[in-house]
Amino acid sequence: MMTDNIYYCDYDVLTHYSSGTLNSKHKTDLTGKLQEIDKIIYNDETITNSFKNGEYNSYITFDDLILYRIFGQFKSNISDKIKGARANGAFVSTEFAESLIDAKQRLALDPSWMNTKVYEAKILLLKGSEISLGIVAPVVTKSGTVLEGGADQILLPKGWSEDTIIGYRRVTSRQLLNKPYFSIKNKPDFDTIKKDKNIYKPVCPACGCDDVCILSDKDRFTVVGKNGGVYEMKFNCRNSECRYYW
Ligand SMILES: [Zn+2]
Repeated sequence: MMTDNIYYCDYDVLTHYSSGTLNSKHKTDLTGKLQEIDKIIYNDETITNSFKNGEYNSYITFDDLILYRIFGQFKSNISDKIKGARANGAFVSTEFAESLIDAKQRLALDPSWMNTKVYEAKILLLKGSEISLGIVAPVVTKSGTVLEGGADQILLPKGWSEDTIIGYRRVTSRQLLNKPYFSIKNKPDFDTIKKDKNIYKPVCPACGCDDVCILSDKDRFTVVGKNGGVYEMKFNCRNSECRYYW
């Protein structure tokens, strides 16, 4: 098989880019979409302090905005209670998760919050919404690790409707190479992790799409990487804007 015109994974040259690089090209641009309003006051210090230097401003949105929220819940074995982060929690961002580790850094997701970070929701926030905007503050975890933050942090009104979520995807462990594709239409089921069938589906490492073709033995092929490594391609992404093989 000729590999000149196909987009495939060359494991020889998988590089790591610095957090925020892909977002600098594809994150939501807020320019001209916000009008400042009187500052919304939150009677909760933890909210104010979650913004860098405690600084934020409040706005009304002039245009529909695409926003992202990383979340994930699980059922505690001990108490039988659902723990973790809800899909419609108040904190969202203009940035998507480039990878699990990048999101943890950029959004300063403290492990003690028990957000499983398995999924990301794509939100279409309708114009006329009142929001607060600042930068994610750094967080020091219990073990002393500094999570730097630095992404745009947007605080939505409490209990915003999940109807504004237009798609979900699995957060990848590898850094995305393309704009993320939110192929999951229905809210993932957290009743128990095991019941959640999405968790076992292969996910495109380039765009996060879970609509993936598993190649049959006869359709598999090998590529030669830049440094001479030979790799068998087993999957193909069905997202028409991606079509990655790996
Ligand atoms: Zn893809």
